Amino acid sequence: MENTQKKILIVEDEKNIAEILKFNIQTAGYSVKAVYDGQSGLDEALSGGYDLILLDLMLPVMDGFEVCRRVRETLDVPIIILTARAEERDKILGLDLGADDYMTKPFSIDELKSRIKANIRRYSNELVSNKIAETIITVGDITIDCESYLVKKGDSPIELSKKEYELLAFLAKNAGKVYPREELISAVWGYDPTYSDLRTVDVTIARLRKKVADPDSSTNLIQTKHGMGYFIEKN
Ligand code: CA
Repeated sequence: MENTQKKILIVEDEKNIAEILKFNIQTAGYSVKAVYDGQSGLDEALSGGYDLILLDLMLPVMDGFEVCRRVRETLDVPIIILTARAEERDKILGLDLGADDYMTKPFSIDELKSRIKANIRRYSNELVSNKIAETIITVGDITIDCESYLVKKGDSPIELSKKEYELLAFLAKNAGKVYPREELISAVWGYDPTYSDLRTVDVTIARLRKKVADPDSSTNLIQTKHGMGYFIEKN
């Protein structure tokens, strides 16, 4: 079975939810461990060699925001955040936590399974595609080094979240082509656009535009083709 051996960590303090998730994800062929507070989640994440982490936000001892931030300092592992409310999702998007995905409760187990699969697959695809990627891409005054993931504007490095980087690199590699949000969702986030909140793309584009903006120019590096999608012009 394709999913055999993939390890998933669930960090969720509501034990009944954790158990339901654990049961369903195990049934889908994954090896699953559930822990019930943030500190245990962090310890387990750092020592357990997981392929993906499902992380609740409101947790005892250490909250999910802190867990996510600290896992990210050390590990490159997909993290899906489970939020209780839509406002929390907006907070996550605003906070640059470095999570890969989020789901607002209540969500369907089928959708969760599809996201798990997509995020794990995207990480392994990245490992492959990174090896064959062009090393340096230049668009406008932005330089993207695909080996070190360093992005510079002129000579100054720009701090980007993982998703911002991937979105920028994707549009830059494919400069000149207009991408609808649905295509960006599947190319960059790796999941099925029919399940997705396309506003995620708009929010990420807006943050990215701010970071790469040229104060002397009114033209965005990342442009909108009205009603069609986003693109970066070819140099
Ligand atoms: Ca909770």
